[in-house]
Amino acid sequence: MLKNGLGTLLRHVHLHGPTSRAVLAERMGLNRSTIMALTAELAAAGLVREEQPTDTGKAGRPSLVVRPSDRIYVLAFDVAVDRLVAARVGLGGAILERRDAVRSRAGADLDTVVGVLAEFGRSLHAAAPPDSVCVGHGASYCGMIRPGDGMVRFGPDMGWVDQAFGDELGRRLDLGLPVLVGNEAHLGALAEHQRGAGIGFDNLVYLHGDVGVGGGIIVGGKLLNGDGGYGCELGHMIVNPHDGRPCGCGSRGCLEAEVGERALLDTANRPAALFGRDAVRAVAEADDPDARDAVRRIGDWLGIGVANLINLFNPGLVIFGGMLRDVYPRSAAQVRARIAKNVLAVSRERVHLRVSALGDDATLVGGAELGFSELLANPLEVAGVRRATAIHA
Ligand SMILES: [Zn+2]
Repeated sequence: MLKNGLGTLLRHVHLHGPTSRAVLAERMGLNRSTIMALTAELAAAGLVREEQPTDTGKAGRPSLVVRPSDRIYVLAFDVAVDRLVAARVGLGGAILERRDAVRSRAGADLDTVVGVLAEFGRSLHAAAPPDSVCVGHGASYCGMIRPGDGMVRFGPDMGWVDQAFGDELGRRLDLGLPVLVGNEAHLGALAEHQRGAGIGFDNLVYLHGDVGVGGGIIVGGKLLNGDGGYGCELGHMIVNPHDGRPCGCGSRGCLEAEVGERALLDTANRPAALFGRDAVRAVAEADDPDARDAVRRIGDWLGIGVANLINLFNPGLVIFGGMLRDVYPRSAAQVRARIAKNVLAVSRERVHLRVSALGDDATLVGGAELGFSELLANPLEVAGVRRATAIHA
């Protein structure tokens, strides 16, 4: 009970920020002396600090505020379609420092990608304040990931099949920690659920658009993984089987083939040489008839996909991330029309539609949360081991 309490309390201040002992006692359903004991253990391990509140506006002795330590951090990595990112993310979720590199669409091999990220990670680690402790590594990858070891089973945009991304990045970082890897849309869903547009929604669908469309579904507050961790490939839901555009997966008329970046740019009659987020945004914001027609048509296909998802999962919220963040606001009328037409009335009563609040950082933030997962499950053990390793390093 005490052990679970440590993780629950630490998770609370990690996700919700500095919180008074009184509020923690109320939210965790524990008495104040138990909260005091838990906080003392976490403080002794260097994971939280306690301080006087600045001004409570109330009479009487104020309750001490518990805040996450700014000396505990993870290294988070993001392999996205057009960029490679690494960041030092503090307990509490703040991105403290980051490094970005542009990634060519021409593709790159494992050695090149891992080389860039490992160099970023080592320089972020070296630049951290001397009394800081790194407690984990988490990475987001735009492909299908084996959860146990971070193996990229299938990374369509770079043509990767069974590449040992997690193991190799951990080896090259050489900081004595494994790299936990997740699919970018799964991690985006988790990040939006915990820190973004999905706060307060325990049932939500996150759609992440880029070249393809990935998905993450939160059911009852938990990520829906599937049997092998490869679930929620929402981009390959068939929406247009007869006349659909060919999909990178070999099928035809998949959602991502109809609403992804290439579909939008082709439908808007943009040259084949144009690609990327800026090109998508330019079409979404353009006023020429081709662009307006393209956004409407994409919105209709997107609406069919979303209608199917609402009928299947009865989510309280659907979030549009990645390039769909730029496309959805201009095509909301078509999406809503499809929902009105194709979703069962009782399922559409309460559903909200929003764009991602974390923007392009959603996947990186999700990677950081993966990096914190072991600490939050076993705070004292993980902090103790990491501190000892750091001292003897
Ligand atoms: Zn497909």
